[in-house]
Formats: sequence, C-alpha cells, structure tokens
Amino acid sequence: MPLKEEKIVIVSNRAPYNITKSDGEIKYKRSVGGLVTALDPILVKNGGLWIGWDGNIGYDKDFKKKIRVGNKDHGYSLKFVSLSANELKCYYHGFSNRSLWPLFHGFIFQSYFDLKYWKSYQSVNNKFADSIIEEISGKELVWIQDYHLTLVPGRLRKINPDLKLLFFFHIPFPNYEIFRVLPWDKEILKGLLGCDLIGFQTLRDATNFLECCKNILNIKVSFKDKTVYLENRIIDVKNQPISIDFKRFNDMAGSKGTERYLKSIKELGAGVKIIISVERLDYTKGIKERLLAINRFFEKYPKYKKKVVFLQISVPSRTKIKEYITLKREIDELIGQINGRFGDELWSPINYLYKALPQLKLAALYKISDICLVTPLRDGMNLIAKEYVSCKAEESGVLILSEFAGAAEEMGKYSISVNPYDIEEVADSINEALNMHSNTKKMLISKLRKIVKKNDIYAWVNNFIKYSKSISGN
Ligand code: UDP
Repeated sequence: MPLKEEKIVIVSNRAPYNITKSDGEIKYKRSVGGLVTALDPILVKNGGLWIGWDGNIGYDKDFKKKIRVGNKDHGYSLKFVSLSANELKCYYHGFSNRSLWPLFHGFIFQSYFDLKYWKSYQSVNNKFADSIIEEISGKELVWIQDYHLTLVPGRLRKINPDLKLLFFFHIPFPNYEIFRVLPWDKEILKGLLGCDLIGFQTLRDATNFLECCKNILNIKVSFKDKTVYLENRIIDVKNQPISIDFKRFNDMAGSKGTERYLKSIKELGAGVKIIISVERLDYTKGIKERLLAINRFFEKYPKYKKKVVFLQISVPSRTKIKEYITLKREIDELIGQINGRFGDELWSPINYLYKALPQLKLAALYKISDICLVTPLRDGMNLIAKEYVSCKAEESGVLILSEFAGAAEEMGKYSISVNPYDIEEVADSINEALNMHSNTKKMLISKLRKIVKKNDIYAWVNNFIKYSKSISGN
C-alpha cells in the first residue's frame, strides 16, 4: 500500500481526539463524526501525523502539545493546535459555522457575514499553516480537510512552492450564484488553489468549484479534464466520495457485543417495525421536515399505529450557536406533539435519543431496523446511509435516501429516493418501504452493499494517494 512509502500529514480543524481533564486526570477520547471515523483507522494502520484543534479553550500547561495514539504496534503522532475563546467564537462558531456552513449548504438566509469573523478565520488559518510548517521537511503529503481551513494551502504554497498539497471538501461546494454571495469569495478560491489537488464528494461539487474559478477569478479551467490553469501551475479537481470501513461495520453487526446489546434492549423491536434515523442535530439534516413527514404518515396510514416505531438518534452539535439552540427546542416540541397526538400509555411513535452512541450500538440498531430514513435537506455525503447497508448481511431492510445527500450520486438508484422537502412524498415512501416485497428488498440492499464494499474508505484513500502520485510537481 503506497501509504507506507510516504509520510502523510492530515490537517483538520478538530483533532481526532478530545482532551479532557477532571480531578487532575487527563483523558483522550476519540471524537464522533464522519471525518474521524474515516481517517483515524487509516493513520493508526499506516503511521503519520495529524494536526488539529484540541477541543478546549485556551492552552492548558498540563496538556501535551503532541502525543502518540493507536496501539502497541501501530499508531501515529497527534499535534494539537490551541484556540483562544475569541478565536473559537469568531473563527469556529462564527466564520466556519455561521458563514461558510450555511452558505455552502445553500442556506443563504441563514448565513452571517461579519468582518470580525473573517479576520479571525484568516489568522487561525495562518496559525494552522505555521503549525504545519514547523513539523514538515517538505517531502510529505499534506492533506488538508474541509471548509475550516481553505486558506491554509495558499499560505503553505507561498512559504514552500514545492510542497505536495491535497485538500478534501467534506461538505457540498455551492454553485456560482450562491458562492459569489460570500464577500470573500476570491480569497477563498485563491487559498484553495494553493493545492495540487482538490477533492470533492460529488461531480456536482467539483463542477461548481470549476465554474466559480472561471466566473469569479476569470481563469482558464477545463470541465472535461477537471483542471484549473494558473499562470505557472495546474490544479486538479476530483470527485471522490468519502466512504466507510465496510468490513468493520459488517463484522460489528455480526459480533457477540452486538448480540449482547440487542438482548439487553429486546423490548425495543418487540412486535413493531423499526425505522431509524441518525445524525448530528443540524438544520441541514432535515429533522424537522422528517418529523412533519412522520406526523403525516400516521395521519394518512393510521393502521401503522402501534405497529411502527421511529428511532430518532440526534447527536448534540454546535450547542452554543443560536440557530442550533432554536432548532433543538423546535424538535423537542414537534416530537412532544407527535407522541402526544398518536401515542398512548404503552406506545410512542417516536423514540428520541439526544446523545451520541458508540458505533457498536449503532451497528446493532442498524441491524434490527427495517428501514433507514436518511432525509437531509443538503449533505456533503452522509455516512449513515453507507453504515446502514453495511450492517445488513442478511440482505433485508430498505434505505430511504434524500436526493440532496451526496450519497445519492452512488446509492440513489437502489434506494427509495425522496425530496426531503416533500412531506407527502416522504410519508408515502415510508408506506412503500413497509410494503416492499422481500425479494425487492434483498435485490436493492445487495446492490447497495456491493457498491459500499467496493468503494470503501480504503479505496477512497488509495485513490487520493494514486492521484497525488500522478502529480508531476509544480
Ligand atoms: N455517529 C456515532 N454515534 C452516534 C451518531 C453518529 O458514532 O450516535 C457517527 C456515525 O457512525 C457516522 C458519523 O457519526 O460515522 C456521522 O457522519 P455523517 O457523514 O453521516 O455526518 P456528519 O456528522 O459528518 O455531518
């Protein structure tokens, strides 16, 4: 595997492990989220360096700046970047999550633009770039992750023109008409163009990026070759959807641990069909719209009362941002209304968990769920869809998938594809899934499993490494 030959430096806003201190004891805990789930096992296996924010405010002298994570035989170095309270407010909660996140997901009217946010974003990006420069000799492959760090490649390229730089956008890249709304659109594009290769989840995202370069920077691009031409450099653009460790999920679902957990919660599935949804509590994930669809489903198909339970797992996320606090309250209220309207002493239509579960438990819940309802309004990829099918070794179950999830490009054809804004359509799709013939379910799930098995996380990484090796150097 090429990774062994070349040291990889991963750079992301959040380090893959959080540090906490209680009663003087320091603990490192692996964080939840698509990126870490995807890359941590790769680095443990192959070694390298990961640079990211430690998850705390300010610098605690008891925390080490660099640690080794992994096991006795395999592991990697983890270097922490610390952020001040003001940087956290302006760079992270502000520019990253109140300007770029909503805008890039197409929520223009939820995007806030503030010069303070932008200045902080610039200075934190410089801080990350400097932290990288301190660690590298110049021969490494530096792979920068996601929308928090779009200015890092530009700065690194200025410092060392010979570096090999990759970037991957985990979130969608908006079209030209949306992107140009950003007051600092040119600066972001120029920052990204410091890379040799920029990866996106879907062809649509890659094409949007090329269109933005052409129209905003007035530079030559080729849509056919997916390249951007600068005066003295060529930048490649690729669409390469991120994935999961198929085998790990498949094996977890069949493990003894899963069996034990399912025994301990056996009341959950007793005599009812289970419909599962899992995500961070975020307005892009379409939770409110989904709840309205569930409400409509019980209105339109009352025979399913007491026959179906919706298991809604919402992981707390960005809990200090105003929009997320409001959303949490609205979701709590909606669930209360639906459970109050349709439920009785012994049955509630929605079983709501506001917490993160370990993936072993998720695997068990995917395994026993008859339907997985994945209905984001917009999503870079959505790993839940991939994890669900990987846990279905017995080839039953149905995936209902939003056409606006990045995953729809690969998986939409073999799912029940829905427009998450269309409450009536989502309600009907649940009925359709509940009535689907077992042979059809088997055929669809088996196709989906083949897709995820073939295009797993290792294929994703290897594809990137392959591309990076083909870059002749600038
Ligand atoms: N996840 C988890 N525990 C939970 C909920 C989610 O470990 O209770 C993981 C899940 O297994 C998946 C990731 O969080 O790997 C979510 O990734 P996705 O791409 O769907 O969404 P993101 O949070 O990155 O927007």
